[in-house]
Amino acid sequence: MRIGVIAIQGDVSEHVESLERALAERGATAEIVTIKNKGIVPTCDGLVFPGGESTTLGRLILREGIDAEIKDAKEKGIPIMGTCAGLILTAKAGDSQVEKTHQHLLGLMDIRVNRNAFGRQFQSFEVGLDVSFLDSPYNAVFIRAPAITEAGEGVKVLASIDGKIVAAEQDNVLAFAFHPELTDDMRVHQYFLDKLFN
Ligand code: GLN
Repeated sequence: MRIGVIAIQGDVSEHVESLERALAERGATAEIVTIKNKGIVPTCDGLVFPGGESTTLGRLILREGIDAEIKDAKEKGIPIMGTCAGLILTAKAGDSQVEKTHQHLLGLMDIRVNRNAFGRQFQSFEVGLDVSFLDSPYNAVFIRAPAITEAGEGVKVLASIDGKIVAAEQDNVLAFAFHPELTDDMRVHQYFLDKLFN
């Protein structure tokens, strides 16, 4: 089993550490590789897109030629998890800011995103979030977080705040507007690992 973390920008090491910890918790082993170049994605059984800056991430993914490989992985049913900026990348469309800048999105999910959905005064906050697959709230860390403003029929909503969708799933793709790699609670990473190991 091999899990790839897209490592061209953003909080990569935090995701690697979280995955290692989540694997240890469940007594499983997997190789975790960081991906900066073309050629590695096709060797992976699972993929993670970290948070960071979605414009930069999208541009580099395209420039390095990783874009097409990720789309292939999606078609093959490889589990993919995007967090924060990673959620933005999974979307097929975005708000006026996304449209104006022609920022590159991967279109892995039938969702539209608002990049800065929580406005300036709430740029960063933590909240005990009800997530559909968890039996108690998750302490979710939001940092200049996006939200999903429209979701197609095939999209399962996993969590919302005041009507804004902050976690969703479609087929083999998971997207979270918050940062599960910044807390000690491994349940979100475990949900992703369930897709790989079950
Ligand atoms: N707001 C950032 C963006 O639009 C994402 C923030 C994050 O990943 N913490 O790319």
